[in-house]
Amino acid sequence: MKKQKSEALFEKAKTYFPGGVNSPVRAFRSVGGTPLFIDRGKGSHIWDADGNEYIDFCCSWGPLILGHANPKVVDAIKATVEKGSSFGAPTELENKLAELILSNNEFIEKIRFVSSGTEAVMSAIRLARGFTKRNKILKFEGCYHGHSDSLLVKAGSGLVTLGNTSSAGIPEAFVNETIVCPLNNKEAVKEAFAKFRNEISCIIIEPIPANNGLLLQDKSYLQFLRDICTEDKALLIFDEVISGFRIGFTGAAGYYNVKPDIITYGKIIGGGLPVGAYGASAEIMSKISPEGDVYQAGTLSGNPVAMAAGIAQLTECMKKGFYEELEKKVSGLKSQISSPGVKIFSIGSIFWIAFTDREKMQRAEEIDTNSMKCFRKLYHELLERGIYLGPSGYEVGFVSAAHTEQDLKKAAEMISESIKKA
Ligand SMILES: *Cc1c(COP(=O)(O)O)cnc(C)c1O
Repeated sequence: MKKQKSEALFEKAKTYFPGGVNSPVRAFRSVGGTPLFIDRGKGSHIWDADGNEYIDFCCSWGPLILGHANPKVVDAIKATVEKGSSFGAPTELENKLAELILSNNEFIEKIRFVSSGTEAVMSAIRLARGFTKRNKILKFEGCYHGHSDSLLVKAGSGLVTLGNTSSAGIPEAFVNETIVCPLNNKEAVKEAFAKFRNEISCIIIEPIPANNGLLLQDKSYLQFLRDICTEDKALLIFDEVISGFRIGFTGAAGYYNVKPDIITYGKIIGGGLPVGAYGASAEIMSKISPEGDVYQAGTLSGNPVAMAAGIAQLTECMKKGFYEELEKKVSGLKSQISSPGVKIFSIGSIFWIAFTDREKMQRAEEIDTNSMKCFRKLYHELLERGIYLGPSGYEVGFVSAAHTEQDLKKAAEMISESIKKA
């Protein structure tokens, strides 16, 4: 595999950017080696700067549910950008994307578009605090919600703890407002609500935790969170930045049929361009400025080019059988791989390769950190064989509508072969 160009570009990039990248996981620190600089993508395939070709299961970390450079998305972007790229004033495209989403989703009545998942979640938390007039939030170890201050907090020792920061630069005062519980543990959440009665503004969870392996929760657990929030008058936030439009059009809320109070979106919603969103009932959303007193704004929010890409992509997702097809592809892939000591966990078109004998993984602590050494080897074996995954064993893979039978057959073969070498 030729790597000279990627290596040269990375050397240069290191002189411009911390660690050579504009987002840390791209730096390949967890798998070692040089990040591939990507030149182009088409459908399920990408080509790096050295001309190597890969079947891509990273799909930009989830947004590209139609694959790369889908013609409908590309045409929509072109036609829109011809008319100007941004106005800082409303456009009809915002209405259209909102209508497409809201008229097909019984869980939210109003929505606000922002420019990233982080921004969506940060705003949702502020909304929950503003609405409930409470300060504390409860999150889970093993969920990722972007990089805002309140959420870069990890568990301390003990079952129910105020967290420790997982980044420098976050004031203690923020950490003191964030409670961290283990996933799939009702007692911990009950204890937190008993200890902080009438202080918790919201529970935030990835209803399909997919940023730290794939830690699928039971419906009964999500329903339990719903009930305890209702009882204590706290809000339940589903962070569906990954699962939204991925596990069916109505995401995890629809899949499990559990109604959160606020839902956050990102990734797929923008068709590969930077869009995030949060939505809730009309009553809760009326707290947002300019209607209410929770301030939130954005120069490029609802950007027309991004809206057009989102409309084009979500229109395809709405087509009959779209999600069933995707799911079939993943179950097909799984059925062709059987290796002792390796499990492929999946839901819909999300899959995660784990070096484990466990039948179920539902908590962060169940992931064996030592197994990441095996992933590191697997990763490079797969690159050599033309398969591109996100460069970390904690990251899930995504199958898009562009992945063909042939892609999946090849991937299954290469994964099976590479596991033997890892
Ligand atoms: C990706 C992700 C985010 C952050 O979104 P960005 O667009 O990277 O800021 C937040 N929450 C979840 C669940 C995510 O998967």
